[in-house]
Amino acid sequence: MSIKDNIARVEERIQKACDRSGRKREDIQLMAVSKFQSLEAIGEAYGAGLRLFGESRVQEAKTKFGTPLPEMPDLELHCIGQLQRNKVKPALQLFSCIQSVDRNELILELANQCQRFQRSIEILLELHTGERSKTGYPNVDALACAVELVLASPLLHLRGLMTMAPYTDDPMLIRQSFKTLVGAQKILQQRFPEITFNVLSMGMSNDFELAIEEGSNLLRIGTALFKGK
Ligand SMILES: *Cc1c(COP(=O)(O)O)cnc(C)c1O
Repeated sequence: MSIKDNIARVEERIQKACDRSGRKREDIQLMAVSKFQSLEAIGEAYGAGLRLFGESRVQEAKTKFGTPLPEMPDLELHCIGQLQRNKVKPALQLFSCIQSVDRNELILELANQCQRFQRSIEILLELHTGERSKTGYPNVDALACAVELVLASPLLHLRGLMTMAPYTDDPMLIRQSFKTLVGAQKILQQRFPEITFNVLSMGMSNDFELAIEEGSNLLRIGTALFKGK
């Protein structure tokens, strides 16, 4: 199976989930999670029409995307893995969005470095909703404090929230995790009407259909696109 075929199959599944839940395909962004993937595989996905890619590690992202890729001019790259403070500077050169903002210390460092280099960056705040191996803010109150901090820095553009559901076969647990993120979005939107929390980044290879049904508008899919599973 080629990557192109994998994309077509994922697209079919996305469309079915949209039909089931009365949603429009164009309201949902598909990100190809390209960690561990070669530039060649990435080029294939790009050739098949994908433009948004996600990487977990700054060093790996730098190796693959650090020099300009003239053959993939409008490729957009987001950071989806835990970002160390001392990697913020190279991260700002690589990514248009940091989806995995998981602690206030990181917000401060992002604000610092943006100030220093006079640039801005889009961010999502990551909420911990059950996956043990993942970090993230523990609850809505912690998120609200983080939002206050973001508001103090005009160079940080907060776009929404991200989460990772637990790895489990129990769809109820997965749905619960997604519902928690949607609930947090609603509360924060009420508390901070000056910000538009419209991005909900949730759903991976094993749970993206549930994520669509629960309201995701940004799917982060790796295995199903690159390995067909
Ligand atoms: C690896 C990863 C994904 C993609 O996972 P797959 O199961 O391969 O689709 C999505 N989000 C994050 C944060 C990841 O680290």
